[in-house]
Parts: sequence; structure tokens; C-alpha cells
Amino acid sequence: MTRGVLIAAELGVPLAVLTAIAILVAINFAAPAPPPGTILRIDLPASTGEIGLPRIDGPADASRPLVVIDAGHGGHDPGASGQRGEQEKRITLALALALRDALLEGGRVRVALTRDGDRFLALEERSGIARRLKADLFVSVHADAAESPDATGATVYTLSDRGSDALADAVATRENRADRVNGVALGGKSDTVTAILVNLSQREMRERSRRFAELVLREGQGALRFHKDPEREAAFVVLKSLDLPSALIEAGYISSPEDARALGDPAWRKGFAGAVAAAMEIYLARTTVVPGG
Ligand SMILES: [Zn+2]
Repeated sequence: MTRGVLIAAELGVPLAVLTAIAILVAINFAAPAPPPGTILRIDLPASTGEIGLPRIDGPADASRPLVVIDAGHGGHDPGASGQRGEQEKRITLALALALRDALLEGGRVRVALTRDGDRFLALEERSGIARRLKADLFVSVHADAAESPDATGATVYTLSDRGSDALADAVATRENRADRVNGVALGGKSDTVTAILVNLSQREMRERSRRFAELVLREGQGALRFHKDPEREAAFVVLKSLDLPSALIEAGYISSPEDARALGDPAWRKGFAGAVAAAMEIYLARTTVVPGG
């Protein structure tokens, strides 16, 4: 018996407990260390277990392409806020609903929303919904914020390990922070996970995502005001580990009084939704077979 055990015994710790501890310690030391160069696969923790899948709207024909629209933030995560107290989570929901309506009006594709009310979802749950529904396209809708009130216009982001510039990295950092609220710091694990997940098929998905982003810029000409550098890449957690084309659209700057007014205007949102829905329909018509469409 070691000195520690003797002291413990004197303190009245039952021998069975001490034996169990001794066995556990022995097992721990006996476990061989992984050889150098071994890749340890870390599973991303499911924060609240698997959540229920949302309703799918649109044509009953399950062979029609499916778009999953994600209204950013929600519940106890309000997202960015505007000078007049506008909350990003409310704007993103209004935009997502407008986008859904525009797609349903077109009648060509099926649509599901990650949330249709004010509730919190971890970033991984959002992409998880799209994956589990086997979506053909995933789009997360947000509203940007910047210190300067001069920053205006929409930006379309696609996934990259490294941001296209410091600003893109800063936006990704801010949007990724939502998961820390839930006590799960996914950011720290993402480098390893990303390294494992990067493969040919993912590169193909990124290429497709960029093609979709280009269509948003093309269809948005005239209807939307874009940021001066409107197409960027950044490491968004919500787009990671998705094996389907995906993009994150910052519809405008909530920190800009002019943009905040537009984002709060149903007519502007309808224009936004029409342009993005057109881009989605064109993208899906090119990449998927739409029967009779
Ligand atoms: Zn956001």
C-alpha cells in the first residue's frame, strides 16, 4: 500500500473503493500512447441530442430538390444589434420566411426552415438538419455588423479553412461565437476535424457552393445592394462538415441605419427573397434533375 492509501485508510475510506481506484489508475497507465502521427478523430459533441426534423413545404414530389434555409441566431442568442435596438435574430427569421414564400410561389423546389420561431439552435444542429433531410442546398441567412456605420450591402460567404481576408475572418469569428453560448466551443476542434474532412468530394462541394454564390450576385444585380467586396470565403462552423453545397448570406449591415431600415422593410425583404430564390432555382435546375420542371 502506498502512503496515500494508508492515509486514506486512516480516514476511513472503504477498502473496496481504494481497490477500484487502484485498478483504474493501473488501467490508465497500461493504455498504450498512440504512435506519433496517428490522427485522432474527434466527434463533434451533440449539444442537446438529436432534435426533431422540421416540416418540408412545397411540391409533394420527393424527387424535387430540397432547400434548407437557416435563419441565423435565435432564442437567447440575439445576434448583432442595430442602433435602434434591431435584433439580428428577428431580421434573419423575417428574411428566411420571405425566402421560403418566394420559393413556394415558384413551385419548383421543396423548402424547410431550421427554425420558424424564436428559438436557439446550436450551429451544428442547423447543418445537421440539412444533412439529415438530405438537402440539395443549405443557405444560412444573417445580417452583418461593423463598427463603421459606412459599411453597407450584402455579402455571400462560402466555406474555407482560411478567410479570404481579415474582415471575412472577423465575421466568421463573430458568427461562430453562437456555439460558445451553448458551452460547446466547436472552434477549437474544427482545425483537426477540418483537416480530416477535407477531401475531393468536399472540394467539389465548395466549388458548387461558389457557383451558387456567383448566381446570387448575378440575380441580385439591381434588386440588392452588395458590399464592395461581395463574395468571400471564411471558416463558418455552420457550413462545416456539410457534404452539400452551402452558403452564408449576410443580407446587409444591421449597424448601418440605411441597411437596417431596408432589412426592416417587408417590401425590401420581398425583393431580397425574389433575387435569392431565383439564384437557388437556377442553381438547382443546373445541378439536379427536376422532373417536368
Ligand atoms: Zn449572424
